[in-house]
Amino acid sequence: MKVTVFGIGYVGLVQAAVMAEVGHDVVCIDVDQNKVDRLKEGHIPIYEPGLTPLVTSNYEAGRVDFTTDAKMGIEHGEVIFIAVGTPPDEDGSADLKYVLAVAETIATHMESHKIVINKSTVPVGTADKVSAKLAETLAKFNKSVTYDVVSNPEFLKEGAAVNDCMRPDRIVLGTDSETAEKKLRELYSPFNRNHDKIIVMDIRSAELTKYAANCMLATKISFMNEMSNLAEVFGADIENVRRGIGSDPRIGYQFIYPGCGYGGSCFPKDVQALARSASDAGYTAQILESVELVNYKQKEKLFSYISSHFSGDLAGKTVALWGLSFKPNTDDMRESSSRVLMEALWKAGAKVKAFDPEAMEETQRIYGSRDDLSLMGTKEAALEGADFLVICTEWQAFRAPDFELIKEKLTLPLLFDGRNLFEPKLMMEYGLQYYAIGRGLSV
Ligand code: NAD
Repeated sequence: MKVTVFGIGYVGLVQAAVMAEVGHDVVCIDVDQNKVDRLKEGHIPIYEPGLTPLVTSNYEAGRVDFTTDAKMGIEHGEVIFIAVGTPPDEDGSADLKYVLAVAETIATHMESHKIVINKSTVPVGTADKVSAKLAETLAKFNKSVTYDVVSNPEFLKEGAAVNDCMRPDRIVLGTDSETAEKKLRELYSPFNRNHDKIIVMDIRSAELTKYAANCMLATKISFMNEMSNLAEVFGADIENVRRGIGSDPRIGYQFIYPGCGYGGSCFPKDVQALARSASDAGYTAQILESVELVNYKQKEKLFSYISSHFSGDLAGKTVALWGLSFKPNTDDMRESSSRVLMEALWKAGAKVKAFDPEAMEETQRIYGSRDDLSLMGTKEAALEGADFLVICTEWQAFRAPDFELIKEKLTLPLLFDGRNLFEPKLMMEYGLQYYAIGRGLSV
């Protein structure tokens, strides 16, 4: 099937690659000429396990192409995905300007029936806005071409995106058109062989399903972080509590890890966007507002441990920082807890020596060159000359470090762990003073 994808980001590029892999003929369009040129030279703009060989082999086989030529792309695809960003507006609501710009472009160039699929995460009612934009633009050009607008939210996880798109848990289709449904069932059939994962529903429910999924996951995290704060208040160990509650199958072990807050391009903005659209509709989404507030405070947690350890005197200290990306297996730094920490440390006059397996280039891009940030080639190099160590991201490579070496390299035997990777007793045996989340302030 001929497929067009607008937006070559985490979602668009991965979807395009897996669609091409199963034999669809895919054209990707982006407004970023540099990104398109580099992709054509084999440079994949994001880190995602398994993505580079998938994109390069399908590009070489001619099953996927990259362009800024929207007209050509629109002529190509019978189905057209919109997978552009929906960043938060000033008030936290989702900014639809990129989505609506794509809708206008599609209508400007379409000369035959198109199925326009919204893959971006968008507030309930956006499909109506996309339809209205298509209709308005077609009328402007005096064209009487028909179209369907479908909501098909994306549930991939960064760090596991290729696998998630190849073997999705569910494929949600929000549509009221039988022909669009039939076409999309055909499009997705290679990913729907094991059992029927396609869930068809009305458009508004599909749009809300995406937000509900992310808000539920963010709620689990903020709930556990609240419990970790209570564990500190009451002198309990949140890791025992986690194991205790996870054993109930109604709760389960997944996604109940306490830590230094959630980040990324989705949870923070989606919780905010749903809360804002609820309030615009006259409903106060109290749980969502609390989830956001708890997370905001949780991101300051590591700095508050550090600051109180040093009685607020951090000027001239050098901090080794392991983990910059918002979670392991990605180079994405959007809303990452490490950024909140680094910025607070700099404000307090400390210097940071940081290491991340994949997010060094992105950190450099965001912060440029500055005297109080050194990006080091290895996690061991980050320890050289540092006073203490902080861990922000639970990369596998940080899970069993050489504790003797850590102690030897640091000026102080001091470790702040934002992801509860180690046992406090073991840290004590190594002679390291250990702060973790909800495990008793200092061991
Ligand atoms: P991204 O920022 O990585 O990529 C968006 C791309 O769209 C950029 O390359 C940008 O240049 C391009 N773009 C902007 N305007 C354009 C236009 N008019 N025409 C063509 N291209 C244009 O974004 P992303 O992380 O892939 O997210 C895209 C959407 O998918 C968002 O709504 C997001 O919430 C949602 N989503 C993201 C994830 C994730 O894990 N990243 C998961 C599920 C859903």
